[in-house]
Amino acid sequence: MTEVKERPHTDIAKGIFSPSALAAYQKCPMNFYYEYVMGIVPKEKKIELSFGSIFHKALAGIYKGGTEKDSRTMLDEIPSVLDGAEKRSREKAHQIFGAYLEKWREKDKKWKILAVEEEAYVELPDGTIILTILDLLIEEELGKFVVDHKTTAAFGATRTGSFRPSLQMGSYLYAARALFGDDVRDARINDIFIGKEPKFQRFDVNLTVREMERFPRNVALTVEDIKRDVMRKEFAQYENSCHAFYHTACSFVPVCLHGEELIELRYRKKEENGDS
Ligand code: SF4
Repeated sequence: MTEVKERPHTDIAKGIFSPSALAAYQKCPMNFYYEYVMGIVPKEKKIELSFGSIFHKALAGIYKGGTEKDSRTMLDEIPSVLDGAEKRSREKAHQIFGAYLEKWREKDKKWKILAVEEEAYVELPDGTIILTILDLLIEEELGKFVVDHKTTAAFGATRTGSFRPSLQMGSYLYAARALFGDDVRDARINDIFIGKEPKFQRFDVNLTVREMERFPRNVALTVEDIKRDVMRKEFAQYENSCHAFYHTACSFVPVCLHGEELIELRYRKKEENGDS
């Protein structure tokens, strides 16, 4: 079995938050409530998550100096073609992985790999703890970068501007600098397109000094709002966000439209391993 490292998880009472949890609250407090207070996700999300997390492990294997054969053995744990999930099947994963190595293997030899899947546990001035896993930390001629692999169904120029300002990117860079020094220059997205034909793009997020200075305060204010909502047991619905979840609809549209009776039928409890 592939060793799937436990994903960072949020513990509101202890003041521990993953960047994904904070980003979910900023998108819509009600979404945060469903995913991080009730702890539910759509049943079909399992396929997407298992594809993404196993693909990440296969990439980590390569960047740790492992063999292609070993990484491909990990990919074999992705389910084969399932109804409606052809894009995230085992066969597709092997095809994309092969194309990825062809595209990047030689170029990546210029990277000095400083860390792979590094767990970062960083305390901010207000006492909030950001808990995340940094996919990759590299050094190249331009300096040090924290690299985030993203398997995505969205692609192209519109994506490059969509990560800033971004609490998630701020978290990665803040954590990388706390662990590896202030000379970590920036966050870099390593996009892996899950579509008909494999495509790849990489771009630097270029966070400004102001964005990074604002980051701890933004987190503190977001955490204050979360704690207030949890105490009041009331979460706002940001309806402008319902169809703006990374180019798709929010997973909880059916519940917000028809009520919580749907939860048992269409959702499941999150697992601590694999659901971030
Ligand atoms: S469907 Fe809309 S209102 Fe409901 S949780 Fe999602 S974003 Fe919020």
